[in-house]
Amino acid sequence: MKNVPQEFGSMVFNDKKMQERLPKTTYKALQKTIRDGEPLDLSVANVVANAMKDWAVEMGCTHYTHWFQPMTGGTAEKHDSFIQPHGDGVIMEFSGKELIKGEPDASSFPSGGIRATFEARGYTTWDPTSPAFIRDTTLYIPTAFCSYTGEVLDKKTPLLRSMEKLSTEAVKLLQLLGKSDVHRVTTTVGPEQEYFLIDKKMYDRRPDLIYTGRTLFGAAAPKGQELADHYFGSIKSRVSEYMKDLDEELWKLGVLAKTKHNEVAPSQHELAPIFSTSNIATDHNELTMEVMKKVAERHGLVCLLHEKPFAGVNGSGKHNNWSISTDTGENLLDPGKHPENNIQFQLFLAAVVKAVDEYQDLLRITVASAGNDHRLGANEAPPAIISMYLGDDLGALVDSIIDGTEYTSRAKARMETGVDVLPDFKKDNSDRNRTSPFAFTGNKFEFRALGSSLNISCPNYMLNTMVAEELSQFYEELKNAPDVEAAAKELVKKVFTEHRRIIFNGDNYAPEWIDEAARRGLCNYKSLPDAMEHYIDKKNIDLFEKNGIVTEPEMRARYEIELEHYSKLLRIEALTMLDMAKKSITPQVISFVNELAETVAVKKSVSASLSVFAEEQLLESLSDKLERFVKKTAELEEAVNNAENLDGDNLAVAKFYRETVFERMAELRELGDAMESETSAEIWPYPSYGEILFGV
Ligand code: ADP
Ligand code: MG
Repeated sequence: MKNVPQEFGSMVFNDKKMQERLPKTTYKALQKTIRDGEPLDLSVANVVANAMKDWAVEMGCTHYTHWFQPMTGGTAEKHDSFIQPHGDGVIMEFSGKELIKGEPDASSFPSGGIRATFEARGYTTWDPTSPAFIRDTTLYIPTAFCSYTGEVLDKKTPLLRSMEKLSTEAVKLLQLLGKSDVHRVTTTVGPEQEYFLIDKKMYDRRPDLIYTGRTLFGAAAPKGQELADHYFGSIKSRVSEYMKDLDEELWKLGVLAKTKHNEVAPSQHELAPIFSTSNIATDHNELTMEVMKKVAERHGLVCLLHEKPFAGVNGSGKHNNWSISTDTGENLLDPGKHPENNIQFQLFLAAVVKAVDEYQDLLRITVASAGNDHRLGANEAPPAIISMYLGDDLGALVDSIIDGTEYTSRAKARMETGVDVLPDFKKDNSDRNRTSPFAFTGNKFEFRALGSSLNISCPNYMLNTMVAEELSQFYEELKNAPDVEAAAKELVKKVFTEHRRIIFNGDNYAPEWIDEAARRGLCNYKSLPDAMEHYIDKKNIDLFEKNGIVTEPEMRARYEIELEHYSKLLRIEALTMLDMAKKSITPQVISFVNELAETVAVKKSVSASLSVFAEEQLLESLSDKLERFVKKTAELEEAVNNAENLDGDNLAVAKFYRETVFERMAELRELGDAMESETSAEIWPYPSYGEILFGV
């Protein structure tokens, strides 16, 4: 790509194109919707639709699609062409109505029992705050998705509502503090995306990767990540070509791809964009994940977004950097030079601290998934216990507020390199704490417990909603105070004192933290079924209903969908394992064992003095493991059948999968991997961890 500034956003109907192609009045009306959240007129939509279509057709498009995020995860699309009969031919047309509303048959999307299949109607509605873009000669229009009766069926709607709600509550509070020029507040997000890149030829030979996205068998390679030589290591040329291609594709789509580097595990990498509004960041992250997979195909590679594709090396996560800023350009989580005198900052910090403490269960729930269960608490990702890291500086501020002592800001120290040719520079106020699930990093919070494949809208709408709730409580408490500032100081002190337990600056990976967290009364939900159970606790339902984000029936639907989805995933994994065990591993090991037995017999018939030590020892060891392997296979099969016939609700079924099926899968794998280590590589039916992880 020769001219990045020129090509950036070339596939997006962005602000520049709108200005060029829309009449001034239409442009202004649309801006009012995008910036100030004002409702949009059909007459405006008609003009916009026509301009969009003209641009898309010039770019070679024949189709448009409403692009949405159903509750299955991933994105969905249904393509319509622009053709309209005209005389005995066609013309290309696109109306405002078609732009605003789509009507995909919703019957096959999960609704968690909100509606029966015969009530199939669902609507997609244009989201003008996220720009339309072109992929594969199709115009993509970001949309929200709801049912005929108005229930929310997607992940975007609650996110948009939560952004709106947070804005309303933050503006109220800011105005009370005298900031009358602020009219709108937005949440911003920068998601760092981890992924694995492996050779397509290896992938094609692994049914586990094909069906489940992770390896279900696989003995450790002699080398893993212990030398820490992959992290930030020099990027191999094949990977570098891929990354270059990926950046260019993303830039054309207006995604601000910024950072790329090798991650901890072999074959693992990361891409981080520059942050944008939560809504656009979410759409762009979904797009990034799709483009990552597509571009990999062109390079004979496969991009794995599963949270734990390989046992024994790190899995992949996503860091959700989150902040709040005003339409006057102020970052509300920026402490400034003197946070001790900045009551506005203190209030917003207190709101986040209170929110994270009171809704720690929701934050845990929102990152729960079958894949992420492998990571959380496994010394590669934060534990399943949610706590906050504020760093030395803010930590000291909070202590001083609680104790009523003086706070002395640590002036920024200079870093002296001790080498004349190297420039000295100012150090950051605090070091990083990589082990914390929710860390303050200068002027934003970094929520680090997300899994790599997760749609970030859920964690963000929960975060926005819980903070909006706290801000509204603060407003209620302060609105009639004769001296708002004095009352605010009192409030901040009270909140920090009551919620101090959620702040933890130590090592979150340390085993002692688990006991300490239990003493503090923090929750520790180890798996999706454990966590999900609390999603529909009354306090959580109250939070979302009160703030108008989702209703109780919608939450109950989401709860059922998540549990059902979890059980289905585990079932697919178990069936894949059974398939691999019965159709390939067992028969291959049997023939290897037979070969050994024959060799022993032949050698003995030639001469009684020939040593058969090696063959006999291996024969014994493998025969023994094979017997146990076959028995474990039967046990797993039995567990899957039992799960099928279980008489219970979705929670009971999910728990059975976790407690019984999942455990038996682990036992079967252990034996399978032990056999792999003793069987000839030529006979083993699947590429080894070494070949896959070091094969690119
Ligand atoms: P790390 O050191 O954790 O890898 P990086 O600096 O690479 O962090 O990435 C941090 C991410 O945080 C980037 O995506 C960046 O754009 C984002 N970020 C920075 N400021 C904000 C903000 N105010 N709101 C949201 N995200 C932000
Ligand atoms: Mg990070």
